[in-house]
Amino acid sequence: MGTRFHIAQYLDVDVDNETFHCHECGQELGPVAKNYKEGCLIYERDPRTVHRPLIEGTELTFAPDPEWCRILEFYCPGCGQMFDNEYLPPGHPITHDIVPDIEAIRRAVQQSTRS
Ligand SMILES: [Zn+2]
Repeated sequence: MGTRFHIAQYLDVDVDNETFHCHECGQELGPVAKNYKEGCLIYERDPRTVHRPLIEGTELTFAPDPEWCRILEFYCPGCGQMFDNEYLPPGHPITHDIVPDIEAIRRAVQQSTRS
């Protein structure tokens, strides 16, 4: 195990191996050069299963139309921790929203170990 740096609520970066890891269990999620979500378990949900009817027995809901929107949930394959979820049009690639600056993280780790 290399030196870990906490970069998001449930994500760490291993600066020695340049890999993402679950903050809760340490599960590796792939190289920092790629999207950590590709290392996750992904649950694609029909929005109607997330947004329940506002009034029992009716169709009234705030659920987006499943023809236009899907909900993706990203989980740690090691411990089941949910990392993120996103609403995307069907067929849209998963978002790549965390691109760590590994050199800046390495410098921060080096500075914190000096003091
Ligand atoms: Zn985990």
